[in-house]
Amino acid sequence: MLGQMFSLKEFEQTRTALRDKVRVTPLLFSDALSTRTGQQVYLKAENFQRTHSFKIRAAYGGLLAKLAEARQHGVVTGSSGNFAQAIAYVGQELGVRVTVVMLERSAPNKVEAARRYGAEIVFCENDFAVRTATVERLSREQGKAIVPSFDGEGTIRGNGTLGFELLEQLPAAEVVLVPVSGGGLVAGVSAVLKQSSWRGRIYGVQPEVNPSLKVSLERGEPTTVPNAATVADGLVANRPGKLTFALAQQYVDDVLLVSEEEIVEATVRLLEEEKLVVEPSGAASVAALVRYFAGKQPAQKVVAVLSGGNAELGRLTDMVKEHRRQQTAAPVRS
Ligand SMILES: *Cc1c(COP(=O)(O)O)cnc(C)c1O
Repeated sequence: MLGQMFSLKEFEQTRTALRDKVRVTPLLFSDALSTRTGQQVYLKAENFQRTHSFKIRAAYGGLLAKLAEARQHGVVTGSSGNFAQAIAYVGQELGVRVTVVMLERSAPNKVEAARRYGAEIVFCENDFAVRTATVERLSREQGKAIVPSFDGEGTIRGNGTLGFELLEQLPAAEVVLVPVSGGGLVAGVSAVLKQSSWRGRIYGVQPEVNPSLKVSLERGEPTTVPNAATVADGLVANRPGKLTFALAQQYVDDVLLVSEEEIVEATVRLLEEEKLVVEPSGAASVAALVRYFAGKQPAQKVVAVLSGGNAELGRLTDMVKEHRRQQTAAPVRS
């Protein structure tokens, strides 16, 4: 069943539908990271995507799959932030009313951006089960179509467009690193790559404090881990979806975990060395590159997906200061 729903042909149709809707983002060779890790490092810069995260791919794929329904009564979805902005943006473009249910602790810059794109925001308790229940209630009561932020057919197929871009930009890539929350991005990208003629490995990346996909793959079924706060505020889904889990089981090689400090360090270095504004969630892939691939021989072509750039400036500044303070306090490493 999964096979047909997510065949390469289905992904190709979605890619055609999304041409000119999502931006083909640059794949940037990184001199600094290549030197530091001894690998050939490429950065897939989704921070330059429309609404500054890959979520526009998910939102377009998800909304187009339900367009008839959505045009009648609007759509409702739950999101920790970037999906909210993306679905609001796409809704505005397609003339669809958008309601987003958000956790009370959601980053203020992301809430504001979703409002700016015209979405109505409904806040709920800081618990994913409550958020899901709220989305379902609004759909039941108001007839709104639900567009899932990660566990939907159209959503995942939309994310697959990034896989096609990688096949065109660097078919010889040997390793691809993808930040994971609910697993929609890694599901879509891995399904495209592994069903094509590509012969590399693809890894999901999660914060150590929220290893939901890692634990689920180990147990062999979608598993809920405790809610945890992380500096990577987009990587907080504490359970993978049914579809994303099944696809990850089939196509993802493994999930690599990174610490909070490693995520902060990667975020600051991307800013300082690459002049790239990347949010901590999007820098998790670089943290995994440094932790798991630095010094490995032979050198490989590694792609780190920078999944988003919606960092809050105040928090970014604090991270830079804190990082500087630690560097001057610590003895110089050679
Ligand atoms: C949503 C998001 C992710 C994770 O996406 P999933 O499809 O839920 O795994 C990673 N990075 C950023 C910046 C995001 O906004």
